[in-house]
Amino acid sequence: MREILHIQGGQCGNQIGAKFWEVICGEHGIDQTGTYSGDSELQLERINVYYNEASGGRYVPRAVLMDLEPGTMDSVRSGPFGRIFRPDNFVFGQSGAGNNWAKGHYTEGAELIDSVLDVVRKEAENCDCLQGFQVCHSLGGGTGSGMGTLLISKIREEYPDRMMLTFSVFPSPKVSDTVVEPYNATLSVHQLVENADECMVLDNEALYDISFRTLRLATPSFGDLNHLISATMSGVTCCLRFPGQLNSDLRKLAVNLIPFPRLHFFMVGFAPLTSRGSQQYRNLTVPELTQQMWDAKNMMCAADPRHGRYLTASAMFRGKMSTKEVDEQMINVQNKNSSYFVEWIPNNVKSSVCDIPPQGLKMSSTFVGNSTSIQEMFRRVSEQFTAMFRRKAFLHWYTGEGMDEMEFTEAESNMNDLVAEYQQYQDATADEEEYEDDEEDIA
Ligand code: GDP
Repeated sequence: MREILHIQGGQCGNQIGAKFWEVICGEHGIDQTGTYSGDSELQLERINVYYNEASGGRYVPRAVLMDLEPGTMDSVRSGPFGRIFRPDNFVFGQSGAGNNWAKGHYTEGAELIDSVLDVVRKEAENCDCLQGFQVCHSLGGGTGSGMGTLLISKIREEYPDRMMLTFSVFPSPKVSDTVVEPYNATLSVHQLVENADECMVLDNEALYDISFRTLRLATPSFGDLNHLISATMSGVTCCLRFPGQLNSDLRKLAVNLIPFPRLHFFMVGFAPLTSRGSQQYRNLTVPELTQQMWDAKNMMCAADPRHGRYLTASAMFRGKMSTKEVDEQMINVQNKNSSYFVEWIPNNVKSSVCDIPPQGLKMSSTFVGNSTSIQEMFRRVSEQFTAMFRRKAFLHWYTGEGMDEMEFTEAESNMNDLVAEYQQYQDATADEEEYEDDEEDIA
């Protein structure tokens, strides 16, 4: 058994985390009381990755829920699957973080963190062989962002050899109206670069654009964005939850996708895109799924892969389909677009098929790519950060909690370095080609 311990923090983290559990409970045939009522052995074969088995045969999510205010967790508790969680695993305060990263990371959050760690430790001790952790949070607020990254660093200290995966929601002014979000996000990225192994980037800017442009929702709500997120999370974790070959645990996923340790921020694509409650009118073919999955319009991150190059990528198809056709289509994409894949990592695209489709669809595909174009999103946040930081606007909210300006400067340069590293590997081809040309001349 290779268990994963799930943690969700803050408003966004708890909202997307709750949706994630709803969706995967559906896929594994677990009902709202934790009872199995499915119809396929495959649903239970790897159930222990995400669930504990309690007495009476009930399945309980291996999940810890935290927040600095009680509101969101109250709604999770009274939501459809609220009773499935272990009541002791709800850890919350009353103070709130007021969208202030410093409160989450250094003051209010630091007071609550030991209670969270106690619950985490208890769950970890119950595991046969814990493979790692997954954290759901937003980077733009105070709790998921500040306290979330505090927890990640504490876990790294205590479990240095376990994997840390995050589902991190990046802020966009299209969705939120809190001006300090670029500060909170940059301070968080600084932490994630050092302390997380792999980050699935969920960018509210892209989620909003997909909802507005592709799904034609006039005023997308968080519910709409979270529908896209939960479909993506289900797709990304499918290979961890069902038997199969490719990326079957967090470490294998990392080994396949991360050629350089700091470059572990992934673009995720999903097809077919559907809106909440809508029906699919037509089933897609494998070529259509493949084409859509690679399309910039289907990426949950506002960056265009055609502006960069793929270091690595991996695709998971779900449903009944021919593996041969999938392989052909994937090869086809790579051949036609070879300039978008770095040639110095041969065979850098992997794909596999899982028989079980997500609920409500006959087939789907999820794409996880390590693309140098992701720097576009980091640049966007960085520009917003710098515009304010240049004038030290709003800084007193942070220094008032004891933070030093220096930490802002360091976070800013760390993110700029990250952008430069992506650029460096994006350009790495030119030299390589010259080198090859030279060789040809000699030959
Ligand atoms: P926290 O409770 O202090 O962690 O703060 P929030 O999670 O509310 O963080 C604010 C950021 O999260 C902003 O960028 C919001 O746009 C975003 N956000 C809040 N709730 C949701 C949600 O349910 N879904 C999505 N996609 N983003 C959210």
